[in-house]
Amino acid sequence: MCGIIGVINSSTAAEEIFLGLQNLQHRGQDGGGILTYDGDTFHKHHGAGLLDIAFPPENFQRLKGPIGIGHTRYATTGKKEVALLQPFLSDDTGLSIAHNGNIVNYHELKTPIQQTYPHALRTGSDSELMLWLLSQTFSGAAPSWDNLLKSIQSTAEQIVGSYSIVGMSDQLGLFAFRDPHGIRPLIMGKRINPNQSQSIAFASETAALEFLGYTDLEDIQPGEAVLITHEGQIKRAYYHQATTKHCMFEWVYFARVESNLDNLSVYQARFNLGVQLASAVIEHGLAPEIVVPIPETSRIAAIALAEKLNLPFREVLIKNRYVNRTFILDSQSERQEAIRRKLYPVSTEVKGKKVLLVDDSIVRGNTSIKIVEMLRKAGAAEIYLASTCPPITSPCYYGIDFPSRDELVAGKYPSSDLPQILNVDALIYQSIHGLQSALNSTQLCMACLDGNYPTDISSGESFSQNRSLEREALIR
Ligand code: SF4
Repeated sequence: MCGIIGVINSSTAAEEIFLGLQNLQHRGQDGGGILTYDGDTFHKHHGAGLLDIAFPPENFQRLKGPIGIGHTRYATTGKKEVALLQPFLSDDTGLSIAHNGNIVNYHELKTPIQQTYPHALRTGSDSELMLWLLSQTFSGAAPSWDNLLKSIQSTAEQIVGSYSIVGMSDQLGLFAFRDPHGIRPLIMGKRINPNQSQSIAFASETAALEFLGYTDLEDIQPGEAVLITHEGQIKRAYYHQATTKHCMFEWVYFARVESNLDNLSVYQARFNLGVQLASAVIEHGLAPEIVVPIPETSRIAAIALAEKLNLPFREVLIKNRYVNRTFILDSQSERQEAIRRKLYPVSTEVKGKKVLLVDDSIVRGNTSIKIVEMLRKAGAAEIYLASTCPPITSPCYYGIDFPSRDELVAGKYPSSDLPQILNVDALIYQSIHGLQSALNSTQLCMACLDGNYPTDISSGESFSQNRSLEREALIR
């Protein structure tokens, strides 16, 4: 999972991209990069770690030009090398891209390319391969919107997976496109500047664009490509159409709560998830005394759940804000240690109480087990765990770090064993119907819940194996 942004016709493009990326930092914390173009030369900077560390202030003087793209990286595939930090630029064609998503058949595509063109690919990045494919078609004709569209179409015919892309062409302008299923989000916004000029930007989430003063926000549609020329003309077309399948996990966990994706507010979706979950708690016949969110993502759903059940909402798990989000870390042991350092319970508020603990989702089960252990030590009488997401039982090949079925607690064990494994007195999951109702959509990817993948995943096995090997290499 990553955050991407592109800006055109801005007198402060690099600064805007940086500020936009800061508003997308939750989508990737391994490193970031910005590429600008001043009408003659490209300027690039990238660095590892959080953006404040990766971009010392003096770097912005070098990043000249009214157009640029940026990326903040979360490595779900590929190692954490600086060479893998995006954007990628093709010196031959003047095309560059920043990518959010995963190409499932990357390893199948890479081998024949490397055999024929041994120096074509310099990194292990699926995004670099995408740029190479785009450039192959693009370099065959004079630069034009038609040629760019043909290049996008030809690339899409070869790759399988999820991709939201922002890119630049030195000759054409700023472009963006979204995979035919619209798995990852991509938004466009416009801004009239004080001198009456118009800037246009694309980003992964509305939160980043709104922060920068962009309005008229609209989702790039699945299978749609858009070009903003250097002169400010907007050209758009569908390059491919397929069934819409937005990733449900963007609303459940990943996106910022202030964002609005595909016409649904993340805040509203999380609130609805809590309302839906209340029915499940009632069906279980439980009588909790307090509702406790596991910070941060489940808070809105927990508020809704407490309101619906007419129970006190209590923030009793206190977060140390200086420890990174646990989900985004790489190894199991890193995650467990981070949970221990990240949260601490207010024991006076839980002692002797029946606690309804609310989490956004249960992936490996590490977070839940640790938190339940803390609450038991703090004296909770009973602990019921409610997940706003249905059981996650299958891997994700589209950019979320859901590993093999064996590492997913609900994939590995029968549901009847889960309360004991998680050490809770009752376990309540959102239903699939509850999720669809909360998100007010049936056009959702829910493959990690029901195994129905929107694309061919025949390359999924090698994708997972390579991901595991890369992760082992990181842990060693
Ligand atoms: S498999 Fe799950 S996490 Fe992955 S894109 Fe689909 S819904 Fe999202």
